[in-house]
Amino acid sequence: MTNPTGEEFKPYIRDIPDFPQPGIIFKDITVLLKNGPVFKRAVDAIAAQFRDVRIDTICSMEARGFILGAAIAFALGVGFVPLRKNGKLPWHTHRKSYDLEYGVDELEIHTDAINPGERVLLVDDLIATGGTVKAAIDLVREMGGELVAVAFLIELKFLDGRKLLGEVPVYSLMEY
Ligand code: AMP
Repeated sequence: MTNPTGEEFKPYIRDIPDFPQPGIIFKDITVLLKNGPVFKRAVDAIAAQFRDVRIDTICSMEARGFILGAAIAFALGVGFVPLRKNGKLPWHTHRKSYDLEYGVDELEIHTDAINPGERVLLVDDLIATGGTVKAAIDLVREMGGELVAVAFLIELKFLDGRKLLGEVPVYSLMEY
């Protein structure tokens, strides 16, 4: 699932070379977020892919994922579950470690955040190596959730993060 109309959003993505470390070209989405009509079109375009699919809950990863995930949850009228970095969630948590394009990190979910059989859409701003979303998929499944699909604003195709995700349907608005 990719979107040919994604090209219209690329002028609002700023490339920042060597951030947060040498060799990484950081895709800065703040220009897109700042532009109300463009932000709305991007959220609507992603939400539209899932209007005819039963989604119970959207899960997103801290921190940029929250911005998109919450907006898409609002657009679809479904609930939102945050996946946070280690130590940020106040209740009992389940945790996963994962590799980043630049480093290692951990994600946590509240142990009661997903009901068994709940149909979950995972949303993040960007898929690079796929390590983050793979950890999130594992967390959702270990909580008994049914993973419907994963959706991103941006996919870095050349890193082939999809290959980590098996049969999970992947939607990305923009590809690089
Ligand atoms: P990965 O686990 O390698 O797929 O990395 C995805 C996560 O790291 C996402 O939550 C992104 O926000 C962030 N990320 C990784 N690479 C980049 C990049 N080049 N530009 C912006 N964000 C990135």
